[in-house]
Amino acid sequence: MVELDLSKKVADRYLKREVLGEGTYGVVYKAIDTETGQTVAIKKIRLGKQKEGVNFTALREIKLLKELKYSHIIELIDAFPHKENLHLVFEFMETDLEAVIRDRNIFLSPGDIKSYLQMTLRGLAFCHKKWVLHRDMKPNNLLIGSNGQLKLADFGLARIFGSPDRRFTHQVFARWYRAPELLFGTKQYGSGVDVWAAACIFAELLLRRPFLQGSSDIDQLGKIFAALGTPSPSQWPDMVYLPDYVEYQYVPTPPLRSLFPVASDDALDLLSKMFTYDPKVRISAQQALEHRYFTSVPLPTDPNKLPRPAPKREPKASDFDSHEGPTVLSPPRKSRRVIPGRDGFEGNSLQRDKVEDNVGNSRQTAGDTTGKNDPAPMSLDFSVFGLKAPSRPTINSADRSHLKRKLDLDFQQPE
Ligand code: ADP
Repeated sequence: MVELDLSKKVADRYLKREVLGEGTYGVVYKAIDTETGQTVAIKKIRLGKQKEGVNFTALREIKLLKELKYSHIIELIDAFPHKENLHLVFEFMETDLEAVIRDRNIFLSPGDIKSYLQMTLRGLAFCHKKWVLHRDMKPNNLLIGSNGQLKLADFGLARIFGSPDRRFTHQVFARWYRAPELLFGTKQYGSGVDVWAAACIFAELLLRRPFLQGSSDIDQLGKIFAALGTPSPSQWPDMVYLPDYVEYQYVPTPPLRSLFPVASDDALDLLSKMFTYDPKVRISAQQALEHRYFTSVPLPTDPNKLPRPAPKREPKASDFDSHEGPTVLSPPRKSRRVIPGRDGFEGNSLQRDKVEDNVGNSRQTAGDTTGKNDPAPMSLDFSVFGLKAPSRPTINSADRSHLKRKLDLDFQQPE
């Protein structure tokens, strides 16, 4: 039987190892691809009960992501459904930008910061050119390989599987990187949301802590306006028409220099262009790359020479033992973080995060996500599906609900 053959093929191919962490969409495992010897990361995405046959839209989108190949985009090597989960196989990455920023043993020079930002923007510019938005940009989605190359991860997943913040309320950190138009409830948005998030990451690289840590959407907007000034209608004419618009007390725009005392003038000029309120006027990722910040001294550090946290465990020969079943060496590492309080930016987010982390823990216990006795997943040949590029770069609510409906369908081979 074709299905059994495919199932065996995949079973023989990926050897599940330890859990790497639990993210927005499910658990991530380390695994070995026995065909290539490559270490991979397998993301198991919960889809829930399926009823109505193949979800062609999601499959087409995933096929599209598979073809999004670029040095600053994490490679989606394979994708296959199993039970109520979809398994996405990615290249394995050593660490992420969040770990770099938080590591107090690491000193980030201006050239290092420039290099990390440049790689981030290169990844973004590439995907925006292909009409794909990220929508969940944050430092722990910027993975770093052993050669120092930074790659954007989770690209497009928000579009395919629904907005992360809507799926799981514990996903509070994404809020800190959310553009003001999203916080005001816009239904139509574009690549500017990723550029705003990249600006927050740039600021975080400069400060070595998250820049604007709101404890709710309203608080997030308050923190943005307190730091960058309240936008006037002339600065952002569409703002007052946004669905969740509320008027905030006027705060004059303080000089960015007061917030980033040691940054260069070029860095601050680029940052202010990325933090432009009106998304129509906000600099694009490509334009940002062309900013003089990247050609002025110090030049971006060679990725190979960038400081990184000490690598975790190296793969051992026993990792390749195909007779050994999947093992869980450690409980899933929480990918969410708790940042200690400091100078008035974070409000009461610390307390809230602890509660929400517990919610995440109980969800995981109930949901058997360790995969200790999981049978081998079934493979699916994506070549049976046609390919069609998404027609536009913006996403509206009608589109999202359409995709969500589609996800209530089953992953099965068509007859
Ligand atoms: P989130 O949804 O919060 O961004 P992810 O689902 O992307 O989190 O990842 C959860 C954890 O799995 C991360 O914290 C990271 O440690 C690990 N991880 C994800 N992708 C990879 C990868 N390609 N290589 C190595 N580790 C990964």
